[in-house]
Amino acid sequence: MDASLTQPEVQPGRGLGSASAVLWDIDGTLLTSGGVAAQAFLKAVEQVTGLSPSVEGIEFEGRIDPEIATLLLETIDHGTDHVPAVLSTYHDLIHGDLDALNTRTQVLPGVRELMAMLVDAQVHQTVVTGNIRSVAEAKLNAAGLVPPIDVEPGGYGDSGSTRVEVAESSLRALFGDQWTTRVGDCWIIGDTPRDLACAQALGLRCALVATGRTPVEALQGLGADAVLTGLEVPGDIKRLWG
Ligand SMILES: [Mg+2]
Repeated sequence: MDASLTQPEVQPGRGLGSASAVLWDIDGTLLTSGGVAAQAFLKAVEQVTGLSPSVEGIEFEGRIDPEIATLLLETIDHGTDHVPAVLSTYHDLIHGDLDALNTRTQVLPGVRELMAMLVDAQVHQTVVTGNIRSVAEAKLNAAGLVPPIDVEPGGYGDSGSTRVEVAESSLRALFGDQWTTRVGDCWIIGDTPRDLACAQALGLRCALVATGRTPVEALQGLGADAVLTGLEVPGDIKRLWG
């Protein structure tokens, strides 16, 4: 496609450049961990249950880690009472082999440049992610994104029981009890329809970027403020900036 930024275009003065905060998704948006985290997750389920879960037909994108653990456990007829043990083992596996994560994690094209623009514009940057916090921090550190990411007010897979709760916890950390008055100039940048649904549920603005597993066609027409094929096209970033 010629123009990767699809309609509706972001209006001048209402774009990312005048945001008060940007809440980045991690996987497929900021970086890829090269399968290291996914493999550790499956291994964690195996270590806890002694059984190999199936990934057949499960769509993981945009889900929070406790949901993923639940879905994997279901494939081997195990219940949610095993979720805490799976997440704790997952944490141990990731932190037990940070070399693998550090070696295979790659920042996606254009991310560092857009982050630098946001730093210059004094836009607060944190994350809203399905990753449990300890793994999110490991991935962000592997990618060298802390700073500019401020991990403290982030929303993580262990900050709530749904992605919306996770985002709300981040907004509370950023703005306190008055967070609802601040959402109109806060953006979520993500790579799945679930990132958008979360933004819409809370009144946040949203840019979707097709750098994860979801194709751009599946991100269009859902009501995002912007849909981009990537973050490396200067013309697109200029329009997103507003
Ligand atoms: Mg993602």
